[in-house]
Amino acid sequence: MELLTIGAFSKACRLSPKALRLYDELELLRPARVDPDTGYRYYAVEQLERARLVAWLRRLGMPLASIRQVCALPPAAAAREIRAYWARVERETAVRRDLAGFLVDHLTAEPRKDTTMLELRYCAHSDTGRVRPANQDTAYAGTRLLAVADGFGPAGAPASSAAVEALKFLESEEPSAGSVLNLLEEAVRGATEAVRDVAGGSDTVGTTLTALLWTGSRLALVHIGDSRAYLLRDGGLFRITHDHTVVQSMIDEGRLTAEEATAHPQHAMLLKALSGDTPAVPDLKLHDALPGDRYLLCSDGLSGVVPDARITQLLSTAPAPDTAVRTLITEANAVGSPDNVSCVVADVVEAAA
Ligand code: MN
Repeated sequence: MELLTIGAFSKACRLSPKALRLYDELELLRPARVDPDTGYRYYAVEQLERARLVAWLRRLGMPLASIRQVCALPPAAAAREIRAYWARVERETAVRRDLAGFLVDHLTAEPRKDTTMLELRYCAHSDTGRVRPANQDTAYAGTRLLAVADGFGPAGAPASSAAVEALKFLESEEPSAGSVLNLLEEAVRGATEAVRDVAGGSDTVGTTLTALLWTGSRLALVHIGDSRAYLLRDGGLFRITHDHTVVQSMIDEGRLTAEEATAHPQHAMLLKALSGDTPAVPDLKLHDALPGDRYLLCSDGLSGVVPDARITQLLSTAPAPDTAVRTLITEANAVGSPDNVSCVVADVVEAAA
Protein backbone atom coordinates (compact mmCIF):
# COMPACT_ATOMS: atom_id res chain seq x y z
CA MET A 1 0.00 0.00 0.00
CA GLU A 2 1.44 3.31 -1.08
CA LEU A 3 1.27 5.86 1.76
CA LEU A 4 1.26 9.64 1.45
CA THR A 5 2.18 12.16 4.12
CA ILE A 6 -0.64 14.42 5.28
CA GLY A 7 0.97 17.27 3.31
CA ALA A 8 1.10 15.35 0.04
CA PHE A 9 -2.38 13.95 0.57
CA SER A 10 -3.71 17.42 1.36
CA LYS A 11 -2.34 18.79 -1.93
CA ALA A 12 -3.80 15.90 -3.90
CA CYS A 13 -7.33 16.11 -2.47
CA ARG A 14 -7.47 19.86 -1.73
CA LEU A 15 -8.50 19.47 1.87
CA SER A 16 -6.28 21.41 4.28
CA PRO A 17 -4.22 19.43 6.84
CA LYS A 18 -6.33 21.14 9.50
CA ALA A 19 -9.54 19.85 7.86
CA LEU A 20 -8.01 16.38 7.52
CA ARG A 21 -7.19 16.32 11.26
CA LEU A 22 -10.78 17.34 12.05
CA TYR A 23 -12.24 14.67 9.74
CA ASP A 24 -10.01 12.11 11.43
CA GLU A 25 -11.40 13.10 14.85
CA LEU A 26 -14.95 12.95 13.47
CA GLU A 27 -14.20 9.54 11.95
CA LEU A 28 -15.19 10.86 8.56
CA LEU A 29 -11.81 10.08 7.03
CA ARG A 30 -9.36 8.08 9.13
CA PRO A 31 -5.70 8.01 8.06
CA ALA A 32 -4.48 4.61 6.83
CA ARG A 33 -1.71 4.71 9.42
CA VAL A 34 -0.72 6.87 12.37
CA ASP A 35 2.92 6.66 13.43
CA PRO A 36 2.80 5.50 17.06
CA ASP A 37 5.91 7.53 17.98
CA THR A 38 5.46 10.82 16.15
CA GLY A 39 1.66 10.84 15.74
CA TYR A 40 2.12 11.71 12.03
CA ARG A 41 -0.79 10.75 9.86
CA TYR A 42 -0.34 8.83 6.60
CA TYR A 43 -3.01 8.29 3.97
CA ALA A 44 -3.35 5.62 1.30
CA VAL A 45 -3.59 6.63 -2.36
CA GLU A 46 -6.87 4.67 -2.49
CA GLN A 47 -8.35 7.17 0.02
CA LEU A 48 -8.03 10.07 -2.43
CA GLU A 49 -11.34 9.29 -4.09
CA ARG A 50 -13.26 9.54 -0.81
CA ALA A 51 -11.33 12.62 0.29
CA ARG A 52 -12.19 14.39 -2.96
CA LEU A 53 -15.86 13.50 -2.49
CA VAL A 54 -15.75 14.95 1.02
CA ALA A 55 -14.13 18.12 -0.34
CA TRP A 56 -16.79 18.57 -2.99
CA LEU A 57 -19.63 17.94 -0.53
CA ARG A 58 -18.13 20.58 1.79
CA ARG A 59 -18.12 23.03 -1.10
CA LEU A 60 -21.79 22.22 -1.54
CA GLY A 61 -22.34 23.27 2.08
CA MET A 62 -23.44 19.84 3.25
CA PRO A 63 -23.17 19.35 7.03
CA LEU A 64 -20.52 16.89 8.19
CA ALA A 65 -23.07 14.47 9.66
CA SER A 66 -24.75 14.13 6.27
CA ILE A 67 -21.38 13.80 4.51
CA ARG A 68 -20.59 10.85 6.73
CA GLN A 69 -23.85 9.19 5.68
CA VAL A 70 -23.30 9.86 1.99
CA CYS A 71 -19.73 8.53 2.10
CA ALA A 72 -20.92 5.24 3.60
CA LEU A 73 -23.29 4.61 0.67
CA PRO A 74 -22.70 2.97 -2.71
CA PRO A 75 -22.59 5.52 -5.58
CA ALA A 76 -26.22 5.24 -6.71
CA ALA A 77 -27.60 5.65 -3.19
CA ALA A 78 -25.11 8.46 -2.50
CA ALA A 79 -26.33 10.25 -5.62
CA ARG A 80 -29.92 9.97 -4.37
CA GLU A 81 -28.99 11.46 -1.01
CA ILE A 82 -27.16 14.37 -2.63
CA ARG A 83 -30.18 15.07 -4.83
CA ALA A 84 -32.48 15.00 -1.78
CA TYR A 85 -30.14 17.29 0.17
CA TRP A 86 -30.08 19.80 -2.65
CA ALA A 87 -33.87 19.78 -2.99
CA ARG A 88 -34.04 20.61 0.71
CA VAL A 89 -31.63 23.52 0.30
CA GLU A 90 -33.66 24.88 -2.60
CA ARG A 91 -36.86 24.61 -0.59
CA GLU A 92 -35.39 26.54 2.32
CA THR A 93 -34.00 29.13 -0.05
CA ALA A 94 -37.42 29.41 -1.68
CA VAL A 95 -38.96 30.38 1.67
CA ARG A 96 -36.35 33.13 2.11
CA ARG A 97 -36.81 34.17 -1.52
CA ASP A 98 -40.55 34.57 -0.86
CA LEU A 99 -39.84 36.72 2.17
CA ALA A 100 -37.38 38.83 0.17
CA GLY A 101 -40.01 39.13 -2.58
CA PHE A 102 -42.57 40.18 -0.01
CA LEU A 103 -40.29 42.98 1.19
CA VAL A 104 -39.32 44.08 -2.31
CA ASP A 105 -43.00 44.24 -3.28
CA HIS A 106 -43.72 46.46 -0.33
CA LEU A 107 -40.84 48.81 -0.90
CA THR A 108 -41.52 49.27 -4.60
CA ALA A 109 -45.31 49.21 -4.59
CA GLU A 110 -46.80 51.89 -6.79
CA PRO A 111 -50.32 53.04 -6.17
CA ARG A 112 -52.67 51.53 -8.73
CA LYS A 113 -53.24 53.94 -11.62
CA ASP A 114 -56.80 52.77 -11.83
CA THR A 115 -58.39 54.55 -8.90
CA THR A 116 -61.48 52.37 -8.59
CA MET A 117 -61.74 50.81 -5.18
CA LEU A 118 -61.65 47.05 -5.05
CA GLU A 119 -63.38 44.79 -2.58
CA LEU A 120 -64.11 41.11 -2.01
CA ARG A 121 -67.35 39.18 -2.55
CA TYR A 122 -67.06 35.99 -0.62
CA CYS A 123 -68.62 32.81 0.66
CA ALA A 124 -67.39 30.09 3.03
CA HIS A 125 -68.79 26.71 3.86
CA SER A 126 -67.62 23.55 5.57
CA ASP A 127 -69.23 20.13 5.15
CA THR A 128 -68.72 16.94 7.18
CA GLY A 129 -68.65 14.79 4.05
CA ARG A 130 -70.04 11.28 3.65
CA VAL A 131 -67.75 9.22 5.88
CA ARG A 132 -66.39 11.11 8.88
CA PRO A 133 -68.58 11.21 12.01
CA ALA A 134 -67.65 14.85 12.79
CA ASN A 135 -66.36 17.97 11.09
CA GLN A 136 -62.87 19.03 12.20
CA ASP A 137 -62.48 21.69 9.49
CA THR A 138 -63.15 25.39 9.96
CA ALA A 139 -63.89 27.77 7.10
CA TYR A 140 -64.35 31.53 7.40
CA ALA A 141 -64.79 34.49 5.10
CA GLY A 142 -65.22 38.18 5.92
CA THR A 143 -64.51 41.55 4.28
CA ARG A 144 -60.76 41.31 5.02
CA LEU A 145 -60.07 37.74 6.06
CA LEU A 146 -60.47 34.38 4.30
CA ALA A 147 -59.39 31.21 6.07
CA VAL A 148 -59.53 27.42 5.99
CA ALA A 149 -58.16 25.20 8.75
CA ASP A 150 -58.18 21.39 8.84
CA GLY A 151 -57.85 20.06 12.38
CA PHE A 152 -56.45 16.67 13.30
CA GLY A 153 -56.22 14.51 16.41
CA PRO A 154 -58.73 14.01 19.22
CA ALA A 155 -59.26 17.79 19.59
CA GLY A 156 -59.00 18.59 15.88
CA ALA A 157 -62.24 20.55 15.69
CA PRO A 158 -61.43 22.97 18.57
CA ALA A 159 -57.86 23.29 17.19
CA SER A 160 -58.98 24.41 13.74
CA SER A 161 -61.60 26.78 15.09
CA ALA A 162 -59.16 28.26 17.66
CA ALA A 163 -56.64 28.95 14.88
CA VAL A 164 -59.19 30.77 12.73
CA GLU A 165 -60.68 32.58 15.74
CA ALA A 166 -57.21 33.92 16.57
CA LEU A 167 -57.01 35.57 13.13
CA LYS A 168 -60.30 37.40 13.33
CA PHE A 169 -58.81 40.52 14.91
CA LEU A 170 -57.44 41.15 11.39
CA GLU A 171 -60.99 41.98 10.28
CA SER A 172 -60.93 45.19 12.30
CA GLU A 173 -57.37 46.28 11.49
CA GLU A 174 -56.68 48.62 8.60
CA PRO A 175 -53.45 47.15 7.27
CA SER A 176 -51.01 49.81 6.03
CA ALA A 177 -48.33 48.86 3.53
CA GLY A 178 -45.64 48.63 6.16
CA SER A 179 -47.64 46.80 8.77
CA VAL A 180 -48.87 43.74 6.87
CA LEU A 181 -45.92 41.55 7.65
CA ASN A 182 -46.07 42.46 11.36
CA LEU A 183 -49.81 41.88 11.47
CA LEU A 184 -49.37 38.47 9.91
CA GLU A 185 -46.61 37.59 12.32
CA GLU A 186 -48.82 38.62 15.23
CA ALA A 187 -51.69 36.60 13.78
CA VAL A 188 -49.50 33.51 13.41
CA ARG A 189 -48.23 33.86 16.97
CA GLY A 190 -51.81 34.16 18.25
CA ALA A 191 -52.97 31.16 16.25
CA THR A 192 -50.00 29.07 17.40
CA GLU A 193 -50.72 29.86 21.04
CA ALA A 194 -54.44 29.20 20.65
CA VAL A 195 -53.78 25.79 19.09
CA ARG A 196 -51.20 24.97 21.76
CA ASP A 197 -53.78 25.76 24.47
CA VAL A 198 -56.29 23.43 22.87
CA ALA A 199 -53.71 20.69 22.28
CA GLY A 200 -52.38 20.86 25.83
CA GLY A 201 -48.84 19.98 24.75
CA SER A 202 -49.85 17.03 22.60
CA ASP A 203 -48.27 16.93 19.14
CA THR A 204 -51.00 14.61 17.92
CA VAL A 205 -53.46 17.51 18.01
CA GLY A 206 -53.14 20.40 15.58
CA THR A 207 -54.40 22.04 12.44
CA THR A 208 -53.44 23.28 9.03
CA LEU A 209 -54.04 26.95 8.32
CA THR A 210 -54.35 28.70 4.98
CA ALA A 211 -55.52 32.32 5.12
CA LEU A 212 -55.62 35.41 2.94
CA LEU A 213 -55.68 38.95 4.32
CA TRP A 214 -57.13 41.66 2.08
CA THR A 215 -55.19 44.95 2.12
CA GLY A 216 -57.33 46.90 -0.36
CA SER A 217 -55.20 46.09 -3.41
CA ARG A 218 -53.45 42.89 -2.50
CA LEU A 219 -53.88 39.63 -0.67
CA ALA A 220 -51.33 38.50 1.86
CA LEU A 221 -51.11 34.73 2.26
CA VAL A 222 -50.31 32.78 5.41
CA HIS A 223 -49.99 29.05 4.85
CA ILE A 224 -49.00 25.97 6.81
CA GLY A 225 -50.01 22.36 6.13
CA ASP A 226 -51.84 20.83 3.19
CA SER A 227 -54.92 22.98 2.78
CA ARG A 228 -54.63 24.97 -0.43
CA ALA A 229 -55.14 28.35 -2.05
CA TYR A 230 -55.80 28.70 -5.77
CA LEU A 231 -56.19 31.73 -8.02
CA LEU A 232 -58.45 31.60 -11.04
CA ARG A 233 -57.31 34.34 -13.43
CA ASP A 234 -58.09 34.65 -17.14
CA GLY A 235 -59.52 31.14 -17.15
CA GLY A 236 -56.35 29.52 -15.73
CA LEU A 237 -56.12 27.93 -12.30
CA PHE A 238 -52.91 28.61 -10.36
CA ARG A 239 -52.10 26.96 -7.09
CA ILE A 240 -50.41 29.54 -4.86
CA THR A 241 -49.60 27.27 -1.92
CA HIS A 242 -47.11 24.45 -1.52
CA ASP A 243 -48.27 21.38 0.45
CA HIS A 244 -46.19 20.78 3.56
CA THR A 245 -46.48 17.01 3.25
CA VAL A 246 -44.03 14.13 3.17
CA VAL A 247 -45.35 13.16 -0.24
CA GLN A 248 -44.93 16.65 -1.73
CA SER A 249 -41.32 16.74 -0.52
CA MET A 250 -40.74 13.34 -2.15
CA ILE A 251 -42.11 14.75 -5.39
CA ASP A 252 -39.83 17.80 -5.03
CA GLU A 253 -36.87 15.51 -4.50
CA GLY A 254 -37.69 13.43 -7.56
CA ARG A 255 -38.42 10.29 -5.54
CA LEU A 256 -42.09 10.12 -6.48
CA THR A 257 -44.25 11.21 -9.39
CA ALA A 258 -47.45 13.22 -8.92
CA GLU A 259 -49.44 10.16 -10.09
CA GLU A 260 -47.80 7.84 -7.56
CA ALA A 261 -48.40 10.43 -4.85
CA THR A 262 -52.20 10.15 -4.89
CA ALA A 263 -52.02 6.45 -4.06
CA HIS A 264 -49.19 6.79 -1.53
CA PRO A 265 -50.15 5.38 1.89
CA GLN A 266 -48.68 8.44 3.65
CA HIS A 267 -50.21 10.97 1.29
CA ALA A 268 -51.80 12.93 4.14
CA MET A 269 -48.78 12.94 6.45
CA LEU A 270 -47.88 16.54 7.24
CA LEU A 271 -44.36 17.93 7.51
CA LYS A 272 -45.57 21.15 9.10
CA ALA A 273 -48.74 22.24 10.91
CA LEU A 274 -49.80 24.29 13.90
CA SER A 275 -49.65 21.78 16.72
CA GLY A 276 -49.18 21.26 20.43
CA ASP A 277 -45.41 21.22 20.51
CA THR A 278 -42.98 22.50 17.87
CA PRO A 279 -43.36 26.12 16.77
CA ALA A 280 -43.82 26.05 13.01
CA VAL A 281 -42.97 28.68 10.43
CA PRO A 282 -45.73 29.32 7.87
CA ASP A 283 -45.12 30.48 4.31
CA LEU A 284 -45.92 34.16 3.71
CA LYS A 285 -46.63 35.64 0.30
CA LEU A 286 -48.15 38.74 -1.23
CA HIS A 287 -50.40 38.73 -4.30
CA ASP A 288 -51.51 41.70 -6.36
CA ALA A 289 -55.23 41.58 -6.86
CA LEU A 290 -56.90 42.34 -10.17
CA PRO A 291 -60.59 42.90 -10.75
CA GLY A 292 -62.01 39.59 -11.97
CA ASP A 293 -59.69 37.42 -9.88
CA ARG A 294 -61.38 34.53 -8.11
CA TYR A 295 -59.63 32.94 -5.13
CA LEU A 296 -60.36 29.49 -3.73
CA LEU A 297 -59.20 28.21 -0.35
CA CYS A 298 -59.97 24.57 0.39
CA SER A 299 -59.12 21.68 2.66
CA ASP A 300 -57.72 18.42 1.27
CA GLY A 301 -61.26 17.03 1.42
CA LEU A 302 -61.75 18.89 -1.89
CA SER A 303 -58.30 18.94 -3.52
CA GLY A 304 -57.64 15.31 -2.58
CA VAL A 305 -60.67 13.95 -4.40
CA VAL A 306 -61.58 16.44 -7.12
CA PRO A 307 -58.93 16.84 -9.87
CA ASP A 308 -57.61 20.34 -10.66
CA ALA A 309 -59.16 20.27 -14.14
CA ARG A 310 -62.61 19.69 -12.66
CA ILE A 311 -62.06 22.38 -10.00
CA THR A 312 -61.12 24.80 -12.79
CA GLN A 313 -64.24 23.94 -14.75
CA LEU A 314 -66.62 24.29 -11.78
CA LEU A 315 -64.93 27.40 -10.45
CA SER A 316 -64.91 29.21 -13.77
CA THR A 317 -68.53 28.50 -14.63
CA ALA A 318 -70.10 29.36 -11.27
CA PRO A 319 -71.66 32.83 -11.46
CA ALA A 320 -70.88 33.88 -7.87
CA PRO A 321 -68.87 32.78 -4.81
CA ASP A 322 -71.85 31.13 -3.11
CA THR A 323 -72.74 29.02 -6.15
CA ALA A 324 -69.06 28.11 -6.59
CA VAL A 325 -68.76 26.92 -2.99
CA ARG A 326 -71.96 24.92 -3.26
CA THR A 327 -71.01 23.22 -6.55
CA LEU A 328 -67.51 22.31 -5.36
CA ILE A 329 -68.79 20.72 -2.15
CA THR A 330 -71.53 18.88 -4.06
CA GLU A 331 -68.85 17.54 -6.42
CA ALA A 332 -66.71 16.27 -3.54
CA ASN A 333 -69.75 14.56 -2.01
CA ALA A 334 -70.61 13.03 -5.39
CA VAL A 335 -67.25 11.23 -5.45
CA GLY A 336 -67.74 9.93 -1.92
CA SER A 337 -66.21 12.64 0.32
CA PRO A 338 -64.04 10.44 2.52
CA ASP A 339 -62.96 13.56 4.46
CA ASN A 340 -64.46 16.86 5.68
CA VAL A 341 -64.73 19.36 2.82
CA SER A 342 -64.23 23.12 3.22
CA CYS A 343 -64.27 25.82 0.58
CA VAL A 344 -63.90 29.57 0.63
CA VAL A 345 -64.38 31.43 -2.65
CA ALA A 346 -63.75 35.16 -2.99
CA ASP A 347 -64.06 37.43 -6.03
CA VAL A 348 -62.10 40.65 -6.42
CA VAL A 349 -64.61 43.22 -7.69
CA GLU A 350 -64.88 46.96 -8.13
CA ALA A 351 -66.50 48.44 -5.07
CA ALA A 352 -70.06 49.60 -5.43
CA ALA A 353 -70.07 53.41 -5.46
MN1 MN B 1 -58.75 16.93 5.74
